Amino acid sequence: MSDLRVRFAPSPTGYLHIGGARTALFNYLLAKKEAGSFILRIEDTDVARSTQESVDAILNAMEWLGFSCDEGPIYQSDRFELYKQKVQQLLDEGKAYRCYCTPEELDEKREKAKREGLKPKYDGTCRHRTDHPDAPYVVRFMLPENREETVFVDQIKGSITFRHEELDDLIIQRTDGTPTYNFVVVVDDAEMGINLVIRGDDHINNTPRQILLYEALGYPVPQFAHVPMILGADKKRLSKRHGATSVMAYQEMGYLPEALVNYLVRLGWSFGDEEIFSMEDLIEKFSLKNVGRSAGVFSPEKLLWLNSHYIKTGDPHRLAELLIPFLQQKEIDPLKGPNLVDVVKSLQERSGTLIEMAAGAEFYYADPIVYQEKARIKFLKPEQKEIFDTIYDKLSCCELFSEEQLEHIFAEIMAAADVKFGKIAQPLRVALTGGVPSPGIYEILQVLGKDESLQRIDQARNALSS
Ligand code: GLU
Repeated sequence: MSDLRVRFAPSPTGYLHIGGARTALFNYLLAKKEAGSFILRIEDTDVARSTQESVDAILNAMEWLGFSCDEGPIYQSDRFELYKQKVQQLLDEGKAYRCYCTPEELDEKREKAKREGLKPKYDGTCRHRTDHPDAPYVVRFMLPENREETVFVDQIKGSITFRHEELDDLIIQRTDGTPTYNFVVVVDDAEMGINLVIRGDDHINNTPRQILLYEALGYPVPQFAHVPMILGADKKRLSKRHGATSVMAYQEMGYLPEALVNYLVRLGWSFGDEEIFSMEDLIEKFSLKNVGRSAGVFSPEKLLWLNSHYIKTGDPHRLAELLIPFLQQKEIDPLKGPNLVDVVKSLQERSGTLIEMAAGAEFYYADPIVYQEKARIKFLKPEQKEIFDTIYDKLSCCELFSEEQLEHIFAEIMAAADVKFGKIAQPLRVALTGGVPSPGIYEILQVLGKDESLQRIDQARNALSS
C-alpha cells in the first residue's frame, strides 16, 4: 500500500455528469495504480440543494462504472461539529472574524467599487471590529497581509501564480451557521489525509484560497492536479445540447460501462495512439503525466464506436444478462423463445448498443411473425410456394440444424431447383424475420431451431398472395 490518498467529492445536487465521472475515474485509476486509497466524499453542506435522490444517483453511477472506493461514502453533513471547531480555531487565532455587514450594505459597496472602476471585493469593514452586536453575521477568513501572491505547481498545468489583489476575505461560515465549500473542502481533505487533489479545472480559482486556508489551519498543503474541462463539438462547455451528459443516461441508452470508461479516459489522457483499454490496462498505464492541458472534445460517434467494439468482443453470457431489461422494456419474455445467449451471439456483430440489440432480437420472439408490408408484397408471392415446400420438406429431415448441415441442405435445394441463393434467401428471410435487417440465414435458422423455423416457413406458405 502506498501513501497516496485521493478522493472524489461530488456535490449531490444532480446526477453524475460525464465530467464528474472522468474526474472520479482519474482518481480511481491513480489510486489503484499506486496501491493508494480512493475516498468518496459526498459534499452535501448545501442542505437546500442536496438531495438523497442525487446521492443515490451518484452512488449508482459509480457502482455501474466499477469505481469502488476504499473509504466512504463520507458525508459532510455528518461533520458539521468538526467544521464548527475549525471555524472557532481561526476566530480564536485572529485569522477569521465575524462580519456583520448586511446584504444591502454589501450591495452598496459593490456598486460603489464598480462606479470607481474597481474590482468588487469585500473592503474589510468588519476586520478589526471588537464589539459583538446581537445581529446576524458571517465568518470571514482574513486574507493574510504578509504575502502578495500564492504559487503552486499543478501536476497537469504546471506552475500557477495568483496575485492576492484578486482575492478578498472569504466567507467560511454563512449566517445560518453552515460552513462554505472552500472551507470544508480544506478541512476534509486535510483531516482525511488527502495528499493529491485531482479535480476539474473549474475549481482552479479556488485553489489559492484553499492553500491559504491550509496554511492558516496548520495543515500540510496537498498536491493539485486540475483536469481540463470537456467541450462539445462546437468547442462550448459540454451541456445537454451536445447529447446526454448524465452517466446513467448512457446505461439507459444501452451502453456498456467498459465503453464509457474507455471513452472517458481518452477525453484528456492518451497512451501513444492506443484506443482500446480495459480497466486492467488503464490501471497499469494511467498517469497524470499523459493528461493533456487542453480541453477534451466530446464525440458521441466515438463513444458509439467503442460501444460497438465492446459489444462485438463481449462475453455473450454477460451481454445476455445485460440485455434482459432491454427486452423486457419491449415486453419480450426472453424465456419464451430461442436461447438468449445464441440470440446475442447472432447480433453482436451488428449492434451498436443494447437498445439496438434488443430491437434486432425482436423478430426471434415474434409469435406469430408479422410481415413488413413492403417485404410481404415483394417476396411472399405464389410462385414461392414450390421453393417453400421444398425447403420445408428438406429441413424437416434435417437432424442437427448446424450451420454446416444447413449449408449442405441449401446447396442441394439450389442445385435441384436451379436457383441461386439470392433467390431463396430474400423470401426465406421474410418468412423467418418478417423482413427486418437480420443476421445470416443459416444463423437465424440455427438460433430459431427446427420447430420454430418450420412453423415460420409454414406460416409464410400460407400467407403467399399475388
Ligand atoms: N464538490 C465539488 C464539486 O462537485 C468538488 C470540489 C473538489 O473536488 O474540490 O464540484
